[in-house]
Amino acid sequence: KEEGRDTIKEYSEDFDRAVQARFQLLRDLRDALEQKQLRLFYQPQLDLRTGKVIGAEALIRWWKPDNSKQGGTFISPGEFIPVAEQSGLIVPIGDWVIRQACEDAKRWESDGIDIRIAINVSAAQFSQGDMVANVESVLRDTGLSAQKLELEVTESVFMDDIQHTIQTLQNLHALGVELAIDDFGTGYSSLSYLRQFPIDRLKIDQSFIRNALNNPDDASIAKTIVNLGHSLNLKVIAEGVETEAHEEFLIKHDCDEVQGFRYSRPVPHESFIEFVQNY
Ligand code: C2E
Ligand code: MG
Ligand code: MG
Repeated sequence: KEEGRDTIKEYSEDFDRAVQARFQLLRDLRDALEQKQLRLFYQPQLDLRTGKVIGAEALIRWWKPDNSKQGGTFISPGEFIPVAEQSGLIVPIGDWVIRQACEDAKRWESDGIDIRIAINVSAAQFSQGDMVANVESVLRDTGLSAQKLELEVTESVFMDDIQHTIQTLQNLHALGVELAIDDFGTGYSSLSYLRQFPIDRLKIDQSFIRNALNNPDDASIAKTIVNLGHSLNLKVIAEGVETEAHEEFLIKHDCDEVQGFRYSRPVPHESFIEFVQNY
């Protein structure tokens, strides 16, 4: 059906294999959540004008133990997050991510690190979970102030039940939580939503940064997103900043914040604290 009407597909054993593999991945992921195989890594976000670390994005990591020589395999979120989203397992996983990230961020405070924590949330967490109640209880339990928390949503949240989403985002914003649109420029975005939604930050998708230096169209899109954001009083952050040339491009076009391998890869909690203290 996804491939359009009036098409014919011959049955192939590959279909079965793909479905089987998905089911297996889902079973393994359920175990992973229960057996605490999931971890959070952190990647710094910097203010481009001052060069200071001002935030960190929490990124989930799954090292799945097995009988191989290495003792396990790394499964990337790009592979398992979509499966988690389709099955609804993203709700308990997402709840765990929010709690763990806020606990870690609270610890940074006692290490003298005064930065915000950015957490990815999927559209399914908005439609199926009770985001507001969950965030409220995590903030209460951890003692982290709401202003230190930012949620990254993609443009796909705007495609679901729009009234419910607006209400949820407004309730979160009323708590003091900041909101960013992740992968901005790649999805379906109605510009009028940017006015209706209580958004604080646009995150330029990394594909535009990657190609900005050799593809004028991508460079124009990146520049346009900075201008659009600023004209709506939003901060703009670029992700996927890998080189000095990328950085210079973004300085020249007045981007506010950056994140990428040029500064640091996502690293475990302890290494992140060390990175910030020595930066
Ligand atoms: P994202 O939120 O857009 O995260 C940015 C991705 O770019 C991360 O991939 C990060 O490791 C990678 N990255 C950062 N800097 C650079 C760079 O300079 N160059 C390149 N090539 N890549 C860079 P990762 O960790 O594999 O995550 C992929 C996606 O999985 C994320 O994209 C996000 O959509 C999703 N994801 C990760 N953690 C979570 C989570 O806790 N919850 C949810 N719902 N989704 C998550
Ligand atoms: Mg993100
Ligand atoms: Mg992104």
